[in-house]
Amino acid sequence: MSAKVWLVGAGPGDPELLTLKAVRALREANVVLIDDLVNVAVLEHCAGARVITVGKRGGCRSTPQDFIHRLMLRYARQGKCVVRLKGGDPCIFGRGGEEAAWLRERGVQVELVNGITAGLAGATNCAVPLTLRGVSRGVTLVTAHTQDDSHLNWRALAEGGTTLVVYMGVAKLEEIRQQLLDGGMAADMPVAMIENASLPQQRECRSNLLHLQEDAHAFALKSPAILVIGRVAASAQAACAVALASA
Ligand code: SAH
Repeated sequence: MSAKVWLVGAGPGDPELLTLKAVRALREANVVLIDDLVNVAVLEHCAGARVITVGKRGGCRSTPQDFIHRLMLRYARQGKCVVRLKGGDPCIFGRGGEEAAWLRERGVQVELVNGITAGLAGATNCAVPLTLRGVSRGVTLVTAHTQDDSHLNWRALAEGGTTLVVYMGVAKLEEIRQQLLDGGMAADMPVAMIENASLPQQRECRSNLLHLQEDAHAFALKSPAILVIGRVAASAQAACAVALASA
């Protein structure tokens, strides 16, 4: 039997947003390696698997990536059914691509299972349609946080006219605001900030580009949160009205 690892998305938090395929992988698992953002409630689907927490939360104590790789490899080579469970989707800012490549290079079979990414769940749970006929023709998912300090082309994003969904942006609100304003985005562009999307403690704060930072501060916005920036982030009804008026 060849060594195999499942890289599985646990969704944004609500255990009901788990896919049936993820549930099957958890049922079959002997070892489950989980990230911090995974809601442990989903582990109810495991039948006696060993659960190992390997969190990598920004700014906190974290497990070195290399250690996680080796752990997966060791268990997979022992013939164990290994599930690497990640918040949201494994390949949206989740290192799923890196982990899959590392394992495949060592002859390990990898099966990727989608999860619902936080940006989609956050928008849906506060009734923001990420695309809307006549209002938004596309969505761009970006992270405000990089390890190598590389810079996003905010001007291109500002000019692109798609809805922007920003991950890991809570500590970068002023930079996001300034870069998008400098890039020519309208100061009154609606922004929805959604914290703990899909969980009982979900909170949402509506603002606009100009007041983004002060409103987030007054709201005490905390991570994990996503930002939805675009005309669709006006109240859902208002965005629909714009669409209907231009139809
Ligand atoms: N793979 C994950 C993203 C991991 S990056 C996914 O597809 O959702 C971590 C970032 O995701 C957080 O900083 C935050 O911006 C976002 N995030 C994850 N879970 C969230 C949640 N329940 N609510 C809001 N944002 C969340």
